[in-house]
Amino acid sequence: MWKKLRIPPISRVTHRLSLGGPMIRLDGKAVAAARRELLKTRVERFVTQHGRKPGLAVVIVGEDPASHVYVKNKVKTTTELGMASRHIELPHTASEAEVLETVAKLNRDAAVDGILVQLPLPKHIDSNKVVEAIDAEKDPDGLTTANLGLLFAGRKRVAPCTPWGVMAILEHYKIPVAGKRVAVIGRSNIVGKPMAQLLTEADATVTLCHSRTKDLAHHTRDAEIVVVAAGKQRFIGRESFAKDAVVIDVGMHRPDSGEFAGKLLGDVKFEELEGHVSAATPVPGGVGPMTIQMLMENTVTLAENRASKN
Ligand code: NAD
Repeated sequence: MWKKLRIPPISRVTHRLSLGGPMIRLDGKAVAAARRELLKTRVERFVTQHGRKPGLAVVIVGEDPASHVYVKNKVKTTTELGMASRHIELPHTASEAEVLETVAKLNRDAAVDGILVQLPLPKHIDSNKVVEAIDAEKDPDGLTTANLGLLFAGRKRVAPCTPWGVMAILEHYKIPVAGKRVAVIGRSNIVGKPMAQLLTEADATVTLCHSRTKDLAHHTRDAEIVVVAAGKQRFIGRESFAKDAVVIDVGMHRPDSGEFAGKLLGDVKFEELEGHVSAATPVPGGVGPMTIQMLMENTVTLAENRASKN
């Protein structure tokens, strides 16, 4: 019943890893752009076959400026891809019951294939309860316990967008994962844990490191691939990685003050890596652009799944 999902191959491989050569900058922006062209074709095919556009609804509660920027980008990308976009704004005074009712309405709406509730929600609303209220068949973030459960049971419907985007970068650059020693730093439900699961499914041998891990550098130096998602600005550099390792930086920080005020930073000191590791994702332009792309792909996957059932 469950299709084994594979990331569609990209024929246009721009680089191949060569050990000892110059470091390859893993360009998430270019990977996302290449995948977007393929996705447009998938959307067109869906419209021809089913006479409607795949639809993504985004719910935002409150006035947080950063959240509004994220939502604006998601709405823009949805429309550019030829998909239907629904944008629901609720005031920060909205009650939990009102947010749950909004989600329930979208669950019942046949034109909606994906429902995304922008996090964080105001403090008086239980985010877990709201995410859990999303119909798992309409959950493009893959964050409902039903979808996380399927992922960990090896029968994934859709995977959380950021780790799924990391897998797409590795696939695009033909970086072998099977049999490799991989260290993942971070164990959140949104990044670290699903990342470790996706890599395990791809036959890597994964060490999951976290804030209580002793001698972190021992684990990272032993790894051939390191995925850093600790949420700590520029906390790890050259000395923590093996020669010729592949480094994926998931971190995203924009400090208000100090040396890097206003700049987008990762968890890794990227400028230290040249001449040491074989490939690395920069920030910005690495994992970040992949997240929104995978959100769109997941929405189309859910639309296709629902259409094939009806
Ligand atoms: P989180 O705070 O929920 O989790 C951080 C994890 O790192 C925890 O599991 C913790 O145990 C671990 N950790 C913290 N300090 C550590 C240390 N010193 N050594 C080892 N492990 C340590 O964060 P998250 O939601 O998983 O996000 C991680 C980072 O990724 C953040 O910077 C976030 O902004 C970024 N992020 C980026 C995207 C994107 O689109 N690029 C998406 C989601 C998250």
